[in-house]
Amino acid sequence: YFKNILVPYDESDHARSALHIAIGLAGAYPEAKVSVVTVIPSASLPNPTLMGEGLEIPYAMGDPGSYERIMESVVQRTCEDIQEMVRQSIDDAQCRVVADAVISNSPVEGIADYVQQHDIDLVVMGRRGLGALRGMLGSVSFGVLRSVDVPVLTVK
Ligand code: ATP
Ligand code: MG
Ligand code: MG
Repeated sequence: YFKNILVPYDESDHARSALHIAIGLAGAYPEAKVSVVTVIPSASLPNPTLMGEGLEIPYAMGDPGSYERIMESVVQRTCEDIQEMVRQSIDDAQCRVVADAVISNSPVEGIADYVQQHDIDLVVMGRRGLGALRGMLGSVSFGVLRSVDVPVLTVK
């Protein structure tokens, strides 16, 4: 059995299916934990070197720590959104389900780092995600399959 399962979550139906499957797997082992984690790409955050109308003033000059607070609040809000989704879509999990969010250069890098840092023993993720293109496998799934050493279950 697996006891530390990661579900990378991008708000897609595919990722929600992955969560249900992960919870089913985890239910076989009383101490199992499912971590539902969204990676926020750094590039989607406000540019720290710009303040106001295109002025090249570092954030830190106006208010040291303000950029840090922005990042923290984005992470916090993302975690709350995940928790709400879990509340609404999971009736009665037989395992611990925790929400987490991390900022990283890319979803693949964030997921691979998370696997290492949190001793993950199985990844369950969507075969596709929010991307509009159809095909076999999304780029995040493909990248994760290439970069982690633990088993990866991709689901439709
Ligand atoms: P692409 O992004 O390549 O256009 P896509 O969006 O259809 O295609 P992926 O992004 O590879 O496909 O999504 C596959 C799975 O990867 C999702 O179901 C989800 O489990 C996971 N995933 C995608 N993006 C993220 C993210 N930012 N954070 C966490 N998990 C993610
Ligand atoms: Mg995608
Ligand atoms: Mg993408």
